[in-house]
Amino acid sequence: VSGPRFDVIDPPSREAVEDCVHCGFCLPSCPTYLLWGEEMDSPRGRIDLVAARLDGAPVDDAFVGHIDACLGCLACVTACPSGVRYDRIVEPTRAQIERARRRGPGERALRALLFALFPRPERLRSLRPLLAAGYRSGMSRRFARWGRRRVPALATLAELLPAPDGAPGPPPESAPVGPERLRAGLVTGCVQAALLPRVNLATARVLAAAGARVLSPEGQGCCGALSLHAGRREEARRYARRLIDAFATAPGGVAPDVIVTNAAGCGTAMRGYGELLAEDAAYRAAAAGFAERVRDVTEVLVRLGRPPATRRTGPPRRVAYQDACHLAHGQGVRQPPRDLLAGLPGVQLLELPEPDICCGSAGVHNLLQPATGRELGDRKAALVIASGADVVATGNPGCLLQLQAALHRAGSPVEVRHVVELLGDALPPAAAGSACPPGGRSPVA
Ligand code: SF4
Ligand code: SF4
Repeated sequence: VSGPRFDVIDPPSREAVEDCVHCGFCLPSCPTYLLWGEEMDSPRGRIDLVAARLDGAPVDDAFVGHIDACLGCLACVTACPSGVRYDRIVEPTRAQIERARRRGPGERALRALLFALFPRPERLRSLRPLLAAGYRSGMSRRFARWGRRRVPALATLAELLPAPDGAPGPPPESAPVGPERLRAGLVTGCVQAALLPRVNLATARVLAAAGARVLSPEGQGCCGALSLHAGRREEARRYARRLIDAFATAPGGVAPDVIVTNAAGCGTAMRGYGELLAEDAAYRAAAAGFAERVRDVTEVLVRLGRPPATRRTGPPRRVAYQDACHLAHGQGVRQPPRDLLAGLPGVQLLELPEPDICCGSAGVHNLLQPATGRELGDRKAALVIASGADVVATGNPGCLLQLQAALHRAGSPVEVRHVVELLGDALPPAAAGSACPPGGRSPVA
């Protein structure tokens, strides 16, 4: 059979493929298998498809469809008793597809738009007036409804992008409350920095309250997670090098003890920098050193001890915690956010059914595969509503926006917050006042 084949650049790991013993334990945790019950849309089926391509089968439309449909949520990695590293299979496979196949004009234009926009916080920032006007006038919601069948990806984009909050200033930095216990370099991200600055601000405040000096170097740019998960590995490497350089010259001239992120997808990507840049002699050591220091903000807070004397901020609330896939499955961080939330005064922590199933966000997957993203989002929203929660908390901006859109569609008043926002709300005024708002900086020793 003719057709393009895999090339020799960065092939998917044959070792990982051969580790699969076809037991099927991963199937119930795979969101696409859950939706469609189709073997080729399960982890086991996709591994078989990749094995055939490693043996020379062509990269045909059917293969591309099954790989494109994978959310990259890594629930199968958690579920697999044989330790199959599916991430080492799917990410290089996506890169092979991008090299082997030329996508249709509509798909190319959409990908070009998304990758020109999302990894560029300054461009996202320039959308703020438009988004604010769209929300004020109701146009965003009307366009989302009108475009759902005509231009589903753009309609989903209009539904997901939030009404901008706060004012995006320079990256937040904070002096520690009390003795300095840690220097934390904050990765400010793209969507978070441009459209959800309140989350970065809350991150800086809670870290400072726990005794960390928070440093946010300028010129960070994107961490490369979106590019990496979409098979744009060279682009991801360029972003990774730039971020490593930005933190090598952190304010104060001393490298941070830890690199802190409040975005699960970014955390997984950055923890993989050692592998991503393993062949780059100039960056290999720096990438490995950087990756070793990456921590989710909740891990750092648990290590430092909860921020001082949190206060109750209103009536008791039932808070459901939704694991971000790249936090739970990608980094194994499950307990720290739960411990922090459960320790808040007046909070009753709820567990949701199907905790391992993706909310449908998965980076830009919900824009590239809008119908799947919507179905999974609606499924998750129904579970949140049925739980009786007042608030659902998560640890990733993509999940936050996805849950917000799905709950809005369902007409639900359940609030969606980042974990650090709830922690920040509960800080006593003295601790809360010690961090700098966007636009101002504490002196950094
Ligand atoms: S990464 Fe997620 S969607 Fe893809 S095969 Fe694994 S469980 Fe299924
Ligand atoms: S659980 Fe692991 S070994 Fe079993 S089919 Fe899935 S990937 Fe293969």
